[in-house]
Amino acid sequence: MTRLDPALWLDRPGMGKLFDALEAAADATRVVGGAVRDGLLGRPVADVDFATRLRPDDASARLRRAGIKVVPTGLSHGTITAVLAGRPYQITTLRIDAETFGRHARVVFTDDWQADAARRDFTVNAMFARALGGEVSDFYGGLEDLRRRIVRFIGEPEARIAEDSLRILRFFRFAAQLDFGMDPAGLKACAARARDLLSLSRERIREELLKLLSARDPVPATQAMLAHGILTPILPEATDLPRLARLVAAEARAEAAPHPLRRLAALLPEDPALARALGSRLRLSRKDSARLEAALTAGPVPRDPRVLAYARGAEAAIDRLLLTDDPRAPAWLPRLADWKRPQLPVSGRDLIALGLAPGPEVSRRLKAVEARWVAAGFPEDREAALALARTELETA
Ligand code: ATP
Ligand code: MG
Repeated sequence: MTRLDPALWLDRPGMGKLFDALEAAADATRVVGGAVRDGLLGRPVADVDFATRLRPDDASARLRRAGIKVVPTGLSHGTITAVLAGRPYQITTLRIDAETFGRHARVVFTDDWQADAARRDFTVNAMFARALGGEVSDFYGGLEDLRRRIVRFIGEPEARIAEDSLRILRFFRFAAQLDFGMDPAGLKACAARARDLLSLSRERIREELLKLLSARDPVPATQAMLAHGILTPILPEATDLPRLARLVAAEARAEAAPHPLRRLAALLPEDPALARALGSRLRLSRKDSARLEAALTAGPVPRDPRVLAYARGAEAAIDRLLLTDDPRAPAWLPRLADWKRPQLPVSGRDLIALGLAPGPEVSRRLKAVEARWVAAGFPEDREAALALARTELETA
C-alpha cells in the first residue's frame, strides 16, 4: 500500500480542527487531487483539496460549529470552501456527474469513493489519501501513470471531453506543469474535438493558457498543441515555436523567472496591434495588455537598456532583452529588477526661470530636455540637469 506523509497537510494551522469537524478519523474525509499527485511526485504541495462523504450543508454546519469560516463557493456541485489561517481549502462532497451540459453537470451525491474518482479528469488527479494515515487509494492507475510520467484521461477521452471541453486545455497544462508525456489516445481525442474550445469563456482560456505557459518548459506541450491544431480555435496567431524555445533557453541562462505573457509574446508575430486585439480577446487586464504590447513592439534593446525601462517600464526592458536573446541579459536583469524609475530633476518652472516664455512651448521643450537627460544616463544631480536645460534652450 502506497502511503503519503500526512505531515504534508497536517502541519498546517487549523487542520486538526478541520479533520475533527469532518470526521477524518472515521475516514469520512480524504485529501484528493493535486496535493496527492504533487506529494507523490515530491513536488511542493500548494493547495490541498478534500473529498468528503458528508453532504455540503452538514459539512458546513460542522465546520461552523468548530469555529471555522465557511464560504459556499460552489454549492450546486457540492463544493464549499473552509478558510484556515487565511488560506482557502476546497471541500467537495463525493458525487457523480449524472448528466452534463457544456461545463455544467446535474450532480448526484454518493458515498462511493470510486464513483467520485471516475468523474475526475485524469488518472493522476483522481487519487485520494487518508487524511490521518496518508494511505493512498488509486482506482484508475494513477500511480502507474505517475511512474510512467504520463497524463491520461479516465475513461474514453472523447466522451470525457464532450462532457467538458476545458479538459482539453487541462490535459496540456498538466503535461507542461508536471513535465509529463501525453497519452496518444488523449491527444487524438483533443485534436478531434479542438473546436469545442470555442464554447469556453475567454477568461477560462486565458487562465489555462497562462498556467501552461508558466511551466518551467512549456515547449513540448505547446508543440503538441500546435501539431494537433489545438491552438487554431483559440490562438490562431501562435506559430513561432522556435522563438519560444529560444526564449526558454535565454531565461535559463539569465536565471530569469519565467513569465507567461513573455512566453505568449514569443509565440506571436511582433505586432503591437495584434497585442491590443489579443488583450481584449483574452480579457487581459490593462496592465497585462500593455506588457504584451511592449513585448511585441519590434526592435533591438537600446545600448543603455534603462532607456527602454524608462519609456515602458523595467519589465518591458527585461522582456525585450530575453525575447531578442540579447547577450547582455544575464548582466542587466538583476540591475533592471531593482531599478527605480528616476525623476527628471528639472521642471517647466526651471525653464521659465532660465528665460523661456510661459506657454505651450514649455512642455515641448521640457520633453526635449528629458530626452537629453535620458541620453546622458539620468544624472540625478540638479545642476547637471539644469546644464542640459540651458544647452536645450540655446538651440533654436
Ligand atoms: P492544481 O490545483 O495544482 O492546479 P489540481 O489537480 O488540484 O491541480 P484543481 O483544478 O484544483 O486541480 O481541481 C481539483 C481536482 O478536481 C482535480 O485534481 C481533479 O480531480 C478534479 N477536477 C478539476 N477540474 C476538473 C474537470 N474540469 N473535470 C474533471 N475533474 C476535474
Ligand atoms: Mg487544486
